[in-house]
Amino acid sequence: MTTRVGVALTRNGVDEAVHQAMAMADCDGCIGLAAKVLVKPNLHGGDGFTSMEVIKAVVHWASRMGASQIVVGDGPYYGMDDAFPYFERIGLVRLCDEMKVSLVSFHDSDYDEIVPNLEALPQTLGITKWVRWADAVVSVPVMKTHFNTLTTLAMKNLKGFLRPRDKRDLHSRDLHLALAAIGWLVRPTVNIIDGFVAYEGMGPSNATPVDMGVVVASQSTFHADVVANWLMGFDPATVRYLREAEKLGCGTLPRSDDDVAALTGCSLRHLQRLRRQFQHPYEAAERAYPNLRISAELACSGCLMNLFTALRDLAGEGLAERLTGTVAIGKAPEAVDLALGNCTCACWGDTEHLVGCPPLIPQIAEALRKLAQNPA
Ligand code: SF4
Repeated sequence: MTTRVGVALTRNGVDEAVHQAMAMADCDGCIGLAAKVLVKPNLHGGDGFTSMEVIKAVVHWASRMGASQIVVGDGPYYGMDDAFPYFERIGLVRLCDEMKVSLVSFHDSDYDEIVPNLEALPQTLGITKWVRWADAVVSVPVMKTHFNTLTTLAMKNLKGFLRPRDKRDLHSRDLHLALAAIGWLVRPTVNIIDGFVAYEGMGPSNATPVDMGVVVASQSTFHADVVANWLMGFDPATVRYLREAEKLGCGTLPRSDDDVAALTGCSLRHLQRLRRQFQHPYEAAERAYPNLRISAELACSGCLMNLFTALRDLAGEGLAERLTGTVAIGKAPEAVDLALGNCTCACWGDTEHLVGCPPLIPQIAEALRKLAQNPA
C-alpha cells in the first residue's frame, strides 16, 4: 500500500477526474483481472450522499481495470430497515440498472462477526459479508462536515460496513477513538473521496452543497482523509479522529502544508488554489438557530438526521429565531429543555422528552414548535 494521494479536478468531466486521481495515487494496479469488486459509496439515508456521477465513474474505472463483477452497496443509518426506497429516490436503482451492476443493502445480508480486541470498539463487530465476497473494495465517501466528528470522509465511511447495532453502539463510545480503530482494522483497497459536490455546515444530512469540483484518491484511508481535511480548510493535526489514528499507527500527520503537498505530488501553490474554508457545523447551526443550543456529541445519524430535518421545517415556518433553549439527542451530559430519542431518556427522567429510536420527524417538529411557542 502506498500513501500517495491523487487530487484531480472534475472540470473536464468526473470520469476523467476519477481516472486521473486513481493513476496519481498508484491505484490502477489494485484491481486484478477478473476481480470481484465492491463499490461502497456513502448512502447514509439522508441528503449529502455520494453523487451518482462519481459512483458511475468509479464503476467505469473498475471495469476498465478488469473487474469481472461489480456490486454497489451500503448500509444506511441505524433505524432505516429498508434502504431500497431511499436508493430509488436518489436515482441509484436506475443507475445500477443502466450500468448492469448489482445493488445491495448490507442490512439485507449476513455479517461476519470478528473480535477486534481493541478497547475503543465493542467486544465483537459484524462486518458485511460483501467485504469477504470481494477481491477488492473501493470506498467512495463524500466530502462533508459532520456534527460529531467535524468531517466525514474515508475513515467515517468505513462505519457503513458494520451491522446496525454496532453503528449505534459506536455512538455511545468515544467516536473519534472508535473511528481510528475501525480505520486501523478495515482497509479498503482504494478510497476515492467525492468532492465533485461537497457539503459544508450542518452535516451529515442538512449541510449546504459546495461546488468543490475535486476528487481525492488513495490506497491509504488515513492519508486520503489528511488531504481532504486540508482541502476543506481544516488543519489535519487538529482533527481528533486523525490524531487518534496516528497513535494507532495508521500514518503520520503532516507537520506543515508542504508535507500535505508532498503526499499529493502537486505543488503547494496548485493545492492552495483548490483549498476552501468549509463552514464548521456548530457555527452554521448557531447562525441558523441563534438562540438554540444543540447537544449531540453522543448521538448517531438516525437522531441527527431527523432533528435537522425537523429544524429545517421550522426554519421554513419562520420559527428559527424563536427556538430558545437546549435540545439534546444521544446521551446528553447536562440538563436540557428538550430531550429527543431513547438514549436521552435514560439520562434525564424529568426533562420533556420524546421516545423513539430515532423519534419521527413530525413528532420532533411538533416538540420544537412547542419550544418556540413557550421558550425555556
Ligand atoms: S435514540 Fe437516537 S441516538 Fe439513540 S440509538 Fe436511537 S437513533 Fe441513535
